[in-house]
Amino acid sequence: MTESPTRVAIVTGAGQGIGAAVAQRLAADGFAVGLLDLNEANVEQGAKDIVAAGGKAVGVALDVCDAGQVDAAVTKVAEELGAPTVLINNAGITRDNLLFKMTEQDWDSVLGVHLKGSFLMTRAVQAYQTKEKWGRIVNLSSTSALGNRGQVNYSAAKAGMQGFTKTLAIELGKFGVTANAIAPGFIATDMTAATAERIGMSFEDFKAAAASQIPVQRVGTPEDIANLASFLVSEGAGFISGQVIYVAGGPKD
Ligand code: NAP
Repeated sequence: MTESPTRVAIVTGAGQGIGAAVAQRLAADGFAVGLLDLNEANVEQGAKDIVAAGGKAVGVALDVCDAGQVDAAVTKVAEELGAPTVLINNAGITRDNLLFKMTEQDWDSVLGVHLKGSFLMTRAVQAYQTKEKWGRIVNLSSTSALGNRGQVNYSAAKAGMQGFTKTLAIELGKFGVTANAIAPGFIATDMTAATAERIGMSFEDFKAAAASQIPVQRVGTPEDIANLASFLVSEGAGFISGQVIYVAGGPKD
């Protein structure tokens, strides 16, 4: 049997939470992984863990909103691991507030990281994907795309990720590249822990309250998202493109 070459995946926001779990999972699936994040120490450690487990990885610090840093990071991954043909646009932030209290900075930062960051990353990686005539793009949306009090900026960004995904699927399909969005519900990470703190609840109480409203009666884990990302970047998912898949323990509209 001929062995297929190692494919290279890039995961943004891979320093912790969902991105870290996706990076570890793709490495276990046999991908060489570029872990990109603002937090250099975290991605260096994540890459070391993958290498210690027998995989290939490199950690690169960057701000996904900065075009120069994005291009340099993608080039570094290509030089160290090979042409990146899988991209997980996962880096994200929240700056929640009711509309009348939301600052321009809160709006710009959230739209910047999710939308501009994903645009810059995808523009850089598609050069390798179209050349290789194969690629997988997975974008992190959210159930907040359907509307969520206190999140006009974040819900606009996450709805934007869905339109972005569908257009990528249309433009890049002829190059063998698929693009899909995962829209998680409540996932236990530092992001949701920070929301609990902001509203003055313990994280345990916040998770229990959320779980009581979810049909499967639990909150999600980063591994729940990594499981789907693993499938969407596989060979077998090549006819699935332009989809938004809610991973929320129950149905969403
Ligand atoms: P998290 O624990 O806060 O991790 C997000 C990561 O993104 C952090 O490591 C962060 O770095 C990094 N990051 C932020 N801004 C960046 C930038 N400009 N450039 C590079 N890296 C940056 O969040 P998470 O819960 O894992 O969320 C991951 C993704 O899933 C996000 O897109 C989020 O919106 C989405 N999501 C999460 C949930 C949930 O319930 N947790 C639900 C739906 C969707 P620093 O820590 O150094 O800032």
